[in-house]
Amino acid sequence: MSKKKVAESVLALLQRQQPHSSKFTSTDSTLLENTVPSVQSVRKLTKQKTQEPTAEVVQTQTVTPIEVPKVSITLPTIETVKAEPTIQHEWQKAPTLDILYSHIHTCMNCSLGATRLRFVFGVGSPNAKLLVIGEAPGEEEDKQGEPFVGRAGQLLTKMLEAINFTREEIYIANILKCRPPKNRRPTSEEVVECEPYLWKQIELLQPVVILALGLTAAETLFKQKVTMKDIRGNILLYKKIPTIITYHPAALLRNPEWKKPAWEDIQLVMRTYNSLIEKTNPEWKKTIKQ
Ligand code: SF4
Repeated sequence: MSKKKVAESVLALLQRQQPHSSKFTSTDSTLLENTVPSVQSVRKLTKQKTQEPTAEVVQTQTVTPIEVPKVSITLPTIETVKAEPTIQHEWQKAPTLDILYSHIHTCMNCSLGATRLRFVFGVGSPNAKLLVIGEAPGEEEDKQGEPFVGRAGQLLTKMLEAINFTREEIYIANILKCRPPKNRRPTSEEVVECEPYLWKQIELLQPVVILALGLTAAETLFKQKVTMKDIRGNILLYKKIPTIITYHPAALLRNPEWKKPAWEDIQLVMRTYNSLIEKTNPEWKKTIKQ
């Protein structure tokens, strides 16, 4: 129906309902016609309404730039943070990493509990200001119960030593605490069960900077498909903590040409860390090892 006809119908209806009012004129009809939304615009509005996103379990947040002095920051729109669980379990109240470990090291919340050799909680200083996050334990980690051991772990240690961080002063953890068979990618069910343990570790550690290793870790943390080319070299926010993503050391062993950009990312970690601690603890500042 045309806008004109809609306007005329409305006027006729009004006239019937208010017979004693003065008669509506063609000018009124024109005025009303101009206020009646066209069928197309109604359809458009209806379409927009039906396109509104439905509520999701995952709560998304848009990353906003943070102020980090002397550090050039480019933030893609990327951060996704899953809603925090309400306190339901004893481990969620753990006041220290040791107590957290004692609560969760026998976890069987997903199928990986039955296939693991060792539970890989994490390693390092409880006072660490730099937290390194990987994806999940591999074969060697599963045997030793410690993240980032073996050749990839040795390379990570060397990369961090190059900016004067020792393994003892940082903290290293994975998103999953148990090894997926054949090092396959974690499933979303496994991440749902296990990632809250990492959140608790972050809450207890309160790191200044996070270094996330590998595309799978990045996608698991941020719940988005990304490419390493686009995501590396930036400072993102994971749980409001500046987070830098770079290549997994195992990938660097297979692709030595990626070592240069990875080294740039490691230096960005150092500059970000220095910028954030220099006002409170200038003596903690790091430099590139000569
Ligand atoms: S992977 Fe995580 S959730 Fe699954 S059994 Fe191991 S500790 Fe528990």
